[in-house]
Amino acid sequence: MILGELRRNAVQRLRDAGVDSAEADGRLLLMHAARLDAAKLISLEGSEAGADVAASYDRLIERRVSGEPVARIAGEKEFWSLRFALGAETLVPRPETETIVEAALAEIEDKSRAISILDLGTGSGAILAALLSELPNAEGVAVDKSEAALHTARENLRNLSLGRRVSYVCGNWASAIGGTFNLIVSNPPYIASKELALLSPEVRVHDPLLALDGGLDGLDAYRVIVHQLGERLVPEAKAVLELGQGQEEAVSALVKATGKLSVAGRARKDLAGIPRALIIHVKR
Ligand code: GLN
Repeated sequence: MILGELRRNAVQRLRDAGVDSAEADGRLLLMHAARLDAAKLISLEGSEAGADVAASYDRLIERRVSGEPVARIAGEKEFWSLRFALGAETLVPRPETETIVEAALAEIEDKSRAISILDLGTGSGAILAALLSELPNAEGVAVDKSEAALHTARENLRNLSLGRRVSYVCGNWASAIGGTFNLIVSNPPYIASKELALLSPEVRVHDPLLALDGGLDGLDAYRVIVHQLGERLVPEAKAVLELGQGQEEAVSALVKATGKLSVAGRARKDLAGIPRALIIHVKR
């Protein structure tokens, strides 16, 4: 069978299974099975597919039909136009998390300054890598509770040629870290435990629980992180935390209750209009 025909059949199969992104997923998984980039795939659509390619494409399509997210099947996801490998212990980077990167960059006037960045719960390293890619003289510390996630982050930063500017610490938020930073970023787990069951299977089954479960009210991680921020920020520094939907007031209240920190205006909204990035500074 020719490649284009394989692809069209697979897309139809995905559509029949109710996959919204059938066209895009069918194309991406074929690129994967045939080891071709997008341009090559287009130019080779009329050529015969090898039996091995057809068989491996069929297996990938079968996984998608049974509900596995395309990023998990491909083992990678694009974020901030950079490519990140994924592991079982890393979240798939979400487009709304780019709001954290935008908010943080907007706080930094001189992009060429040598600043220090701390990323708490780095996962695949997506936020830190995006920031370092825009801040040529910045250095970062990536923290994660999961050794496996840190391993994935390290590989990703190395592949993006950013590895020399990063050190890695396995630990519980900032407890294993000393010193101060110019910028602290985090996308902590923020789903209330009882709401985990309501998440789509793509998230519930395939994203790591450690990166999702925010405890009884979803705010457990913020309670710890917000308390650690005061000691880790230099006086003019900022922290940018990702928020779950509807958490702006509650997290702002935690910030104010420290007595040492303030929130800088309203949270920056993501593309869906949801307040997503809360900016925090040391009280002046
Ligand atoms: N944004 C994730 C979701 O899709 C949750 C990630 C998190 O808890 N930080 O639900």
